[in-house]
Amino acid sequence: MYYIALWDLFELGDLTRSEVIVRDDLRGYNVMLPPDLRAQPISVNLLATSFCPTDRNVYIERVLRAGHHGIEEWPRVAGREIHNLLQQLHAFAQQFVRDFAARQRSLRNFDICGAMITFSDQYIAQVRERFSADNNYPRRQVSRLILHLQQIAAFEATAAAALLNYRISRTEMGAGALFQEMDALFDFRAIEQELHARWLGLTEPVTPDFLYRRRIIGDIKTGEIDVGPGGVFELTCTAYAMAWEQEYREPIDWGVILHVSHNRRRNVPIYRGSQIYRLNTTARIRLLDKLEQKLRLIRDGQDPGYPADREVCRGCVYEAVCYPEGEEDESLS
Ligand code: SF4
Repeated sequence: MYYIALWDLFELGDLTRSEVIVRDDLRGYNVMLPPDLRAQPISVNLLATSFCPTDRNVYIERVLRAGHHGIEEWPRVAGREIHNLLQQLHAFAQQFVRDFAARQRSLRNFDICGAMITFSDQYIAQVRERFSADNNYPRRQVSRLILHLQQIAAFEATAAAALLNYRISRTEMGAGALFQEMDALFDFRAIEQELHARWLGLTEPVTPDFLYRRRIIGDIKTGEIDVGPGGVFELTCTAYAMAWEQEYREPIDWGVILHVSHNRRRNVPIYRGSQIYRLNTTARIRLLDKLEQKLRLIRDGQDPGYPADREVCRGCVYEAVCYPEGEEDESLS
């Protein structure tokens, strides 16, 4: 998560203080979908993903209630571990600083980098142990995940240390001021705060990963990068912002996606896919259009049919549901 603080310092600058034009009737606190549409709400995930050109996955999940069964796919499993590590590291760092400030007057022994690495080593050892008792996933995938988690932990620890040590080296502060500095540098709040959004036709709770600088809603992603207008990243941020607005009656104009990936030729996590979004009038219209389209499909219960190009379906997690054995030829004819 501390990548965002660095990104903010190095590149974002005043961007997120610039004006975002939002029509007032599109603020979360002013939007209410008709009762027939919001009667059967949809998850933010199902709303934002659009890998199926006909939205047949929505029909399968919400009308047929069939879904895809079996072992959870590895990208989801790995993504959850990365997500948990980031949240745990932030929680640990905050508590470490708080405890240090309460116990010490001097900063002579302050070593947040060492403390975070020690914590993450123990945490990652537990993850490794959990997977060693789980034969559902290949060893090679698990080993790669463990390495990725270690890289993420090292990045977070060094970022936290670099920024805090910079402040310590520039000021006469004592240990008592540490938490305030930490809070100012890494202003992440409302971690996984649950929000209501039934009025928007969304399944509750709606849970953004964090609020950054008290005005940028954020989510951590590890899967495919879908950055364009109306893509997964923008739709997710917009849905979270509107849910936050409704809950707190506070405008949220920006959304950030922290995208965490890895590259075997690098010894640091790859954050290149991370994005920042202006949640303006057009982004909100795109969200409401998509939402209404999917909610209508659920309300009407009509099979939207198959994509014209069968190739689109190859490897889709719903492929076995859409083309059960022996029916493929018929579906293609
Ligand atoms: S298999 Fe094809 S039709 Fe079925 S959900 Fe996937 S993309 Fe859509």
